[in-house]
Amino acid sequence: KQGLKVQCDGDPMALLEEEEEEGPGPVQIVVANEENHEFSLDEEALDRILLQEHIRDLNVVVVSVAGAFRKGKSFLLDFMLRYMYNQKSDFWLGGNDEPLTGFSWRGGCERETTGILAWSEVFVVEKSDGNKVAVLLLDTQGAFDSQSTIKDCATLFALSTMTSSLQVYNLSQNVQEDDLQHLQLFTEYGRLAMEEVYLKPFQSLMFLIRDWSYPYEHEYGLEGGKTFLEKRLQVKQNQHEELQTVRKHIHSCFSNIHCFLLPHPGLKVAINPNFDGRLHDIDEDFKKELINLVPLLLAPDNLVEKEISGSKVTCRDLVQYFKAYMKIYQG
Ligand code: GDP
Ligand code: MG
Repeated sequence: KQGLKVQCDGDPMALLEEEEEEGPGPVQIVVANEENHEFSLDEEALDRILLQEHIRDLNVVVVSVAGAFRKGKSFLLDFMLRYMYNQKSDFWLGGNDEPLTGFSWRGGCERETTGILAWSEVFVVEKSDGNKVAVLLLDTQGAFDSQSTIKDCATLFALSTMTSSLQVYNLSQNVQEDDLQHLQLFTEYGRLAMEEVYLKPFQSLMFLIRDWSYPYEHEYGLEGGKTFLEKRLQVKQNQHEELQTVRKHIHSCFSNIHCFLLPHPGLKVAINPNFDGRLHDIDEDFKKELINLVPLLLAPDNLVEKEISGSKVTCRDLVQYFKAYMKIYQG
């Protein structure tokens, strides 16, 4: 039976019931072992999430938010969850005094380990043409503080970029040259692992810039992001060759590249240790942009199905791809 943890000592039925009662939550599906720099996929957890009967044969949409720790990924994902759970409501953002829950609510699951977390509930969404898709949310996190961790991260980000249809690259304040170089490294790893190089190997990439503080140069949101990114990714004649290569490479890897500029959420969010996510404590500007951003990522008709080598894949297929990609890196 699915959901049984055979390796546990306790009574398996009790465990099963416990799991059911617990409700949806974040589940670590890829774990990095920081000592030997190896990755492992929790195949059982992945199966449990993606092989549920009601979703396994639906085409899958995979939205991943990736980036370094402590840059507000979980905070954003929690709002994405609110949207998914309140699709039909104009007030999905929630009540003023409701604490935020989701990826960040279970202390224990949010250890700062490099890896990929999945939301255990896969959402079924009907698009306006009547097609139903299954939406999987991923949180990809890593650290970039030493050479060895950069390599680990590259592997991890490659893995989540290969398995997602939309990768949100969460960055703080600006796009630094470093961020682009990291991105090149991730995508190079990913590219190597994919056979069909004549197609762009990845689908959509969104640079999400947090704490954007130059709205007078490029306004908040998607439009400002567009002009900002065009400038940032522009290949110039007199640019150093290495810088040109990075830019060309990024363009050659993704079918779509966007950028969204998000304002600072306010000091209560950034520095109050007791902040629990209630809207009351978040700056108006931030909420205003959040209301634009989240539907842009997740509104039914904006959801893009995951394609591999030009064909849409189901949840069941995705499990196989995950396992195959994982093997490449364990090689
Ligand atoms: P994660 O490690 O990337 O998942 O980051 P978290 O979502 O756990 O957030 C880390 C800290 O940053 C928390 O104290 C949040 O309240 C705060 N935070 C969340 N979003 C933002 C943001 O857009 N800007 C700033 N400055 N802080 C944020
Ligand atoms: Mg987090």
